[in-house]
Amino acid sequence: MKEACGVFGIYAPGVDVAHLVFDGLFALQHRGQESAGMAVSDGTEIVVSKEMGLVTSAFDGRKLAALTGHLALGHVRYSTGGASTWQNAQPVYRSVGDQGFALGHNGNLTNVAELEAEQNMLPGISSSDSDLVAELLALTIAGEGELASTNALEEALRVVLPRLWGAYSFGLIDTQHLIAVRDPNGFRPLCLGRLEPSETSPGGWVIASESPALDIVGASFVRELEPGEMVIIDDSGPRSVFPFPESRIDPRLCVFEFVYFARPDTKLFGKEIHAARHRMGQQLAAESMVDADIVLGVPDSGVPAAEGFAEASGIPFGQGLVKNRYIGRTFIAPTHQARVDAVRRKLNPLRESVEGKRLVVVDDSVVRGTTTGQIVRMLKEAGALEVHLRISSPPFAWPCFYGIDTPSRDELLAARMDASEMAEFLGADSVAFLSLEGLAKAIDADGAGFCSACLTGSYPTPVPVKISSDRILATS
Ligand code: SF4
Repeated sequence: MKEACGVFGIYAPGVDVAHLVFDGLFALQHRGQESAGMAVSDGTEIVVSKEMGLVTSAFDGRKLAALTGHLALGHVRYSTGGASTWQNAQPVYRSVGDQGFALGHNGNLTNVAELEAEQNMLPGISSSDSDLVAELLALTIAGEGELASTNALEEALRVVLPRLWGAYSFGLIDTQHLIAVRDPNGFRPLCLGRLEPSETSPGGWVIASESPALDIVGASFVRELEPGEMVIIDDSGPRSVFPFPESRIDPRLCVFEFVYFARPDTKLFGKEIHAARHRMGQQLAAESMVDADIVLGVPDSGVPAAEGFAEASGIPFGQGLVKNRYIGRTFIAPTHQARVDAVRRKLNPLRESVEGKRLVVVDDSVVRGTTTGQIVRMLKEAGALEVHLRISSPPFAWPCFYGIDTPSRDELLAARMDASEMAEFLGADSVAFLSLEGLAKAIDADGAGFCSACLTGSYPTPVPVKISSDRILATS
């Protein structure tokens, strides 16, 4: 699975903010490595700079120095809708009259075909769902008169947003405003931060997909945006509006932000992700104990859960796999063999640590099974006597339509096999998953609403394919 995009926006009068956007995007790099970009406004015009690749290869000191202005929006992308091309890199820019706006999107719309049809566009004419939203906004603004230094972008959003279904945390700027929007289900995270006043600046405001991006630019965490909330930031500070009908508000934060996607130092519902992953491991041990010599985690996101498993089980925690730290930009390998090779490039066993040992190997999820099967094979070839897989989430058996790149249902191992069939297929001595109840207990956010559609098949909004319990029937 791959994360799908991070957004970072900043409004800081008196400060050239491009270098802060660079730092914020760098903190969000795990959410997308295909392209990076920023749009910067000096109050009169917007300049957009974007490149394919990592933040550090997209921007250098010379480029950042040329981007002057106190208002900016940044984006890192992993494509789930639309091809991975420079044209689809974000922020997306649209001009209306002699001004314009820029948009960055984390998530995935589920009603693109309907929106295109409503607009009399040819099916598939938009290069991505984000491009379509920008087009709808531009058409709305053009219909209402030229975008001026008034609230035209905000007004257009009030019209367009209720028409959008699916997952979207948006950041937008025009020349005067920074705007943040979280969809009515709040599938993807988005938070607001405050830059304190200094001798040279009256302070400012920051929006970011995850809270560590606030820390890295010296902003303090204010709060997460509510599902269905739009925050408009300008000289008067932040102002909230709720452009969706009350009936649409149904909080469903993606549960996999806790399991895998978010950084361990990110806080959601006021709790640090690392501690939640540790509790997942403890809960997993309580649910599926096994006799073994050491517990090891698949780096990086399996490690906190492995520590929790070791603590709760009394089995010593150990290192058994080394990850190449210099694996940067990754691709979805097109063939099984290419995926196997990719795993070998990324992970290597510590032979002296695993030889002759019975291992508990903790990982966060099993998707196709290619990575997991390869890890089991490596550890056994390195001399492990037994490999017991313990997965810190329930079986991932349904595709995600909300901005996470997952294979179709027939490629998902858990859609075809139960745990014992999986153990045989993967060459493991046993496989066990954390229960859904155990996952909720570990997250420990009573009253919070979550999406767990990829685990249960129960989608909180209409999705663009018909799904039966055993196979995808049709796509549109
Ligand atoms: S379907 Fe799964 S991965 Fe997608 S948003 Fe829901 S919980 Fe997250």
